[in-house]
Amino acid sequence: MVTREIRVKGILSKSKVYDWVINPYVGCQYGCTYCYARFMKRFTGHSEPWGQFVDVKVNAPELLLKELRQKQKGEIWMSGVCDPYQPLEEKYQIIKSCLEILSQYDWPVVIQTKSPIVLRDLPIFKRFSHIDVGFSIGTGSESIRELFEPNAPPISSRIEALRMLHSNDIRTYVMVAPALPEVVSLVPLLRGIVDYVLVDKMNYHYADWVFKRYGLNRVEDVAFLSDLFKVYDIPCEVVC
Ligand code: SF4
Repeated sequence: MVTREIRVKGILSKSKVYDWVINPYVGCQYGCTYCYARFMKRFTGHSEPWGQFVDVKVNAPELLLKELRQKQKGEIWMSGVCDPYQPLEEKYQIIKSCLEILSQYDWPVVIQTKSPIVLRDLPIFKRFSHIDVGFSIGTGSESIRELFEPNAPPISSRIEALRMLHSNDIRTYVMVAPALPEVVSLVPLLRGIVDYVLVDKMNYHYADWVFKRYGLNRVEDVAFLSDLFKVYDIPCEVVC
């Protein structure tokens, strides 16, 4: 794993998903097989495989403080092309520092992660008037998860983290993107611990080799998930 500390010129970027996005790291230690964010390699000149490099934007909090005073208040997504709570966050605490600042200005925030490290910041989440904390989960099967996301935290730890957040009155959600084999087994696991589910049929052709090697079928039609979640009283929006 190659880790570099870098200083960047901006941290609050326009987003097509929410108003703004903050990516505190370039690269992601989880290195999921299907990850579309590997296109970042082209822009950053990294030759290491995806998952084997991370640049840490060490000046992110100071930039954020400046940019919050200049830009129009809007919803901030953390993050689009990295996991904000990947293991390096325990050392660098970039997202934690950003959240401390955002909580003072009370900008609305949407967090998306696969990591239970997010629980560390529960006391900060409680200071926001609008914050959603979500987990990416594409299947209920640990063995399928291990094939597609071998370096990411187990599903059981994500479910437990959701349970803890929800029981502390934090608004929680799950992003199913991509829907992986055995996604149906995920549905009952989310009962009573999420406020909503989003399903996005993203392009995940990078993982073609996983499907081929293990003889798995793709989940081509995700529309049925919406009805399935309704059975468990979980609002579900298919956003693709
Ligand atoms: S956790 Fe998210 S950003 Fe990181 S490698 Fe996996 S899909 Fe990509």
